Amino acid sequence: MLKEYQLLDIRLSLGACDASSSKASLKNFFNFFNSFNSFSSAEGRFFEQSESEELPPKNIMKDSAFFTFHSSILIALLLAHASFCLGQEERGLSPTAKAMERAGYVNVAKAVPGIHISLMYARDDNFTGRLLYKDLREAYLHPRAAKALAKAQRELKAKRPDLSLKVYDAARPMHIQQQMWDVVKGTAQQDYVSNPRNGGGLHNYGMAVDITLCDAATGDSIPMGTLVDHLGPAAHTDAEADLVRRHVITPETLKNRKLLREVMHAAGFTVLRTEWWHFNLITRAEARRTLKPIP
Ligand SMILES: [Zn+2]
Repeated sequence: MLKEYQLLDIRLSLGACDASSSKASLKNFFNFFNSFNSFSSAEGRFFEQSESEELPPKNIMKDSAFFTFHSSILIALLLAHASFCLGQEERGLSPTAKAMERAGYVNVAKAVPGIHISLMYARDDNFTGRLLYKDLREAYLHPRAAKALAKAQRELKAKRPDLSLKVYDAARPMHIQQQMWDVVKGTAQQDYVSNPRNGGGLHNYGMAVDITLCDAATGDSIPMGTLVDHLGPAAHTDAEADLVRRHVITPETLKNRKLLREVMHAAGFTVLRTEWWHFNLITRAEARRTLKPIP
């Protein structure tokens, strides 16, 4: 039978929905619904009466319209509650992350098992010296790029289970690209940043990723010869044997870079000539022809 505390449970759980209470509240709701149905079918009455009270003269529960009406309300409440709880997860996201998810970009941490994420523009120790991602901590990619990255991680795990991919930057909204451009415009660094006026770069389409290799357990990056956003010849990928010969990078570093490229290339990515960490999945021409940049 339906008890008062059950009604209270329903009311409380509908009012307080978090990750742990949502399951409980749904369970309560089903209990409530079962109580309601079993009671109504067994006794033909919606409201429980105290033993001393007279039953209402009219047996309202025989009215099927009454049942249908109240069942509909309950189902509507249940659906509204479920949708509220599902929305709760999104409410934990920042406005930028929400916009990414709504536009269909994929959260890399969810799509690529074991991957590490450490967004360099969510800190101020990047080459711009500015914190550019004020509210973004998650890495997002176009679904195609996320799928390819998952393949790269599988390739890596097959070769080196002790290592993992680690993302430094992925999809980058154009308004962030503009901020980045404003910082470097007119400086020696401007050649390394895509001008939003010219359509931006592949990060702005979720089709490029800045990435390295790390210890799978600790997340510590393994040596690649330079910092991730080092702008200069030591980060270039087209004359690395010469860099080793001139002791700019070590043979171990070259081996690490080659392993990163091997797994990324196997998944369809191409490395940039001037940045060992930057990989594109498609060309700019294809992106501009087939995709819209992230606003
Ligand atoms: Zn990049």
